[in-house]
Amino acid sequence: MVVFNEISTVDEWVTNKKKEGRSIGFVPTMGALHKGHIALVEQARRENDLVVCSIFVNPIQFNNKEDLKKYPRTLDSDLEKLDDAGCDAVFSPDAEEMYPAGHPDKIYDFGQLNKVMEGRFRQGHFNGVAIVVKKLFDIVQPHRAYFGEKDFQQLQVVRSLVKQEKSDVQVIGCPTVREADGLAMSSRNTRLTKAQRREAPRIYQALVKAREMYPELPVEQIKDQIRDTINASPELELEYAEIVHPDTLLPVTRSHRNTSAVACVAAYAGKVRLIDNMHLNS
Ligand code: AMP
Repeated sequence: MVVFNEISTVDEWVTNKKKEGRSIGFVPTMGALHKGHIALVEQARRENDLVVCSIFVNPIQFNNKEDLKKYPRTLDSDLEKLDDAGCDAVFSPDAEEMYPAGHPDKIYDFGQLNKVMEGRFRQGHFNGVAIVVKKLFDIVQPHRAYFGEKDFQQLQVVRSLVKQEKSDVQVIGCPTVREADGLAMSSRNTRLTKAQRREAPRIYQALVKAREMYPELPVEQIKDQIRDTINASPELELEYAEIVHPDTLLPVTRSHRNTSAVACVAAYAGKVRLIDNMHLNS
């Protein structure tokens, strides 16, 4: 596995491989890798000749300075995990390399996709995601790029970005990988205290219950259940629970077993913000 810190060197490597006719699968990450990330690498491995992974804690997508400062950084063990998973190349730049002129001023319009849920509670977040994804796609020039459904709204924003930019990168959504007790794997889980970690699976339990309720009960009742299940723990506080159409992210107002819907949740465990989601009619 080769590791690059500079745009010019990874660009040259990729260009050569593409000239040889090899397909490239790309997995963008912010590091602190866990089995959820590795599942993306493994899927990319199966579907492409070569896999490139990026590790970059993108400062411009953090709306909260403390979250950026406390974001776990574990580069050495990340590289070991990627090597074991059969990744071919890693691109791990610093912020100066990615943004030599400082914060880019490009503003994207994602319509409704950016106005609700994460877009509403994390102002500027998806614009920062879009800027970095566009830049990484330009550098790595992948055939396919792999994103987790764990960040469901991000996946839809990236799909919209690719459409807007008329990019020919194929965006592939991959299922959420969970701990044995249902908690969605996340780099932020390492920051949970023992008590918070014990209670955090309530988020998953609330979503499973929501899926059971969906065909029969009104949306408002399902949202109340999610709130009550999570807030019943003194360790957790719900920020939002929404039930939306998976493509438009517009609220689903009437539950029906034939109406596609996904329940999306954000909750705080102390200062750690956790998100999760679940399709309700699959
Ligand atoms: P991050 O490093 O958090 O930016 O995540 C990098 C990629 O891994 C994103 O596409 C995430 O959606 C995906 N990802 C993170 N956690 C999981 C998980 N538990 N299951 C599947 N994909 C995940």
